[in-house]
Amino acid sequence: MDSITARNLLKLQDIDLKIEEVKAKIEKIPAEIKKIEEEKQKIIDEFENILRQRKQLEITKKEKELDIQTFQDRIKKIEERLNTVRNNDEYKALLREKAQAEEAIIHIEDEILKIMEDLENLQSRIKELEKEKDLKIQNLENQIHEKKQEIEKLNLELKELQQKREELTKQIKPQDLAQYENIKKKVKTKVIAVVDDQVCTGCYMVIPPKVFTELLKSENLLRCPNCGRYLFYEAK
Ligand SMILES: [Zn+2]
Repeated sequence: MDSITARNLLKLQDIDLKIEEVKAKIEKIPAEIKKIEEEKQKIIDEFENILRQRKQLEITKKEKELDIQTFQDRIKKIEERLNTVRNNDEYKALLREKAQAEEAIIHIEDEILKIMEDLENLQSRIKELEKEKDLKIQNLENQIHEKKQEIEKLNLELKELQQKREELTKQIKPQDLAQYENIKKKVKTKVIAVVDDQVCTGCYMVIPPKVFTELLKSENLLRCPNCGRYLFYEAK
């Protein structure tokens, strides 16, 4: 294999590494988008949860108000009976019952006051959160949009790299290309390792002196005895 082929293979390898890099980036993005979408959903859920809390408090308040109405009706009936009752014991019992109902009303009114206080606090929190939530969601949606744009950009980049690769492979002899692809399958990453200071930069083993001497003399591509990658040496 001549040095032009070697240089072309080295270029091919650069392109292949870039292709892998771009593909890895593209693969990562959907998970990133999913994470942002989950974050957005969490904000929406939290807000809806607070709205549910408010609704629940309003329902409880209405129930308590109905309870008061019930006790007031009871008191009215007791008062009517107090006007007609003749028996002293029965009269006393009715008075006791009336006092109990009045006490119950006071108790429920306290509870309603507490609920109204809670509602007021919740209301101001909802107002605050509403603004915050919209801003946060807007921000997250922008992030998602950016990620989607990034995918588009990377896909374009990938297409360009693949076109470049195709052009380049036309300049390489089929058997050389086939060998390159074969080694690539085995070593996964770099097929051609630049020799730096007598070290194969593919596996970081020192190249035996005999191979290195040959490498200096020969125009041909030799292979690393350790990892099998092509060795590319350029005198500095
Ligand atoms: Zn090696």
